[in-house]
Amino acid sequence: MGPGGFPQAARPDQYACPSAPAEPGAGLLGVLGPDGRIANLRLLMQVDEEFLQAARAKGAPESRMRFTSPCQTKRCSQWTGHSCGVIERVMSALQDRGMAEAGLAPQQGLQPCTIRATCRWYAQAGPEACAACALVITDTREGTREPA
Ligand code: SF4
Repeated sequence: MGPGGFPQAARPDQYACPSAPAEPGAGLLGVLGPDGRIANLRLLMQVDEEFLQAARAKGAPESRMRFTSPCQTKRCSQWTGHSCGVIERVMSALQDRGMAEAGLAPQQGLQPCTIRATCRWYAQAGPEACAACALVITDTREGTREPA
């Protein structure tokens, strides 16, 4: 079981961060759609410097794409000591607004995801994390990963 009690295939040190910086070797997880939500790709594509250079020509890649790389736990400023603080804050904000009201009820179905078996957020919060995940834009200011 993962940290949140949800079934996981990964060992605790093998979780994937679903909101990682755009760096060579990272996986392209999803792209921002016209509805303002991240649409996950069906296949994980590893990006290289050439791809990132082309993407930077239109601004920070993280502003319109989401990347994944291994969870850095205590090496990440978002690590609370036992969990990822990003998804905790996102879900708390959405729960204040009302998940269902925002059209984010997990029973509406999970979108496909290439990293669900090892996702840190899914391990912590299960399907509700996936519902909230589509609204997260990685924020690279000061090296942090703030939710949109
Ligand atoms: S929270 Fe859900 S949709 Fe988002 S990356 Fe993790 S498993 Fe995929």
